Amino acid sequence: MKKYWLVGNWKMHGSLASNATLLNAIRERQPALSPYVDMVLCPAFPYIAQMASLVEGTGIQLGAQNASDHLQGAYTGETSPRMLKELGCGYVIIGHSERRIYQGENDGLMGRKALAAIDAGLIPIICVGETAEERDKSRTHEVLARQLDAAFGYIRTAHDQVIIAYEPIWAIGTGIAATPEIVQTEHAFLRSRVAQRDPSFAARMPIIYGGSVKPGNAASLFSMPDVDGGLIGSAALNAEDFVAIYQSL
Ligand code: PGA
Repeated sequence: MKKYWLVGNWKMHGSLASNATLLNAIRERQPALSPYVDMVLCPAFPYIAQMASLVEGTGIQLGAQNASDHLQGAYTGETSPRMLKELGCGYVIIGHSERRIYQGENDGLMGRKALAAIDAGLIPIICVGETAEERDKSRTHEVLARQLDAAFGYIRTAHDQVIIAYEPIWAIGTGIAATPEIVQTEHAFLRSRVAQRDPSFAARMPIIYGGSVKPGNAASLFSMPDVDGGLIGSAALNAEDFVAIYQSL
């Protein structure tokens, strides 16, 4: 059986009360997880400790939405991936387009963050994706290759574990998901690009899709051969939708 990942990116939403309510609602609808589908929830930083205690023993895993490219030091306001690991995270989202756009994060920083996450014992979920304009100008592969190569300049494929998230910027939060055909084409491109460095690593590297995944389109997106799961934003804030997406895997 193929293994899948379903990652909920809660972004800058939530509160102590609403996090507990959302998790309870998810657990009521999905009391036991499938051994073939890992569920990872990524709350905002202040709630990681709360969520770590709430998910204990449930099989649900935790991730963060960002981390520093350093493990410790004089970096005011930053969060070390080592601290996230200590609090119970197993994953961290790196290079989400909202960080690239609003915080000015660039490809080189993504690579350094991915490496720091790996060194801290986390699995980085490295986000790549083109803008609508880049797609219109047929520059999608050039952009994806640039973003991927920057990260893989740091990753040691022989033993590191990473997840790639293909997240076309035009599909994030717009309600317009990429078609299954587009997703398959781009995932296959990403896998072939990594295969140029290390074919066996590329073959086992999970590539998940993110961008307006909903219960109505999840099954067709996840049926594509190079799709290994999903990174879910707005639908992850609704237990019914998130569990329906989980169950379509
Ligand atoms: P969306 O967000 O599901 O709301 O489009 C996805 C993401 O930003 O990871």
